[in-house]
Amino acid sequence: MSVFHPKVGVVSCSGESCVEGTISRVATRLVLEDLRSENTVTICLPLFLAGGEDERMFAMHFPTIAVDGCEKRCGKIAIEKYSGKTVDAIVVSEILEKGEIPRPTSRRTLDEKGIEVALRVAREIAERIDKIFEKWGE
Ligand code: SF4
Repeated sequence: MSVFHPKVGVVSCSGESCVEGTISRVATRLVLEDLRSENTVTICLPLFLAGGEDERMFAMHFPTIAVDGCEKRCGKIAIEKYSGKTVDAIVVSEILEKGEIPRPTSRRTLDEKGIEVALRVAREIAERIDKIFEKWGE
């Protein structure tokens, strides 16, 4: 007998032009590979935009969290245009603007402090995922 394991899609923007985009990608990987590896999957946003049918079908039928680098919210806009409403959305620049986490400067590679920032964003994503599952279980 197969057992259904519900999954949440964590979709990072592909931001290459600013450090917040790098953080969104690294934080998403930390969630997928470490913090919530059991119950998350991701979607390749460029493939999704290029018409990937499996990606679009997944986002239609499973809850998704968009993790965007900045207020342009490319990931959230793309998902909602082609598949359906995201359940939650995170904007890294908004988290950094709160000032509790220092903004890294290099956009290409994250140094030790940059990885720490990504980990804090990843923990925020993980908390949001837990809330989705709590609601799912109600
Ligand atoms: S949301 Fe911002 S950082 Fe991400 S791809 Fe769009 S413009 Fe780039």
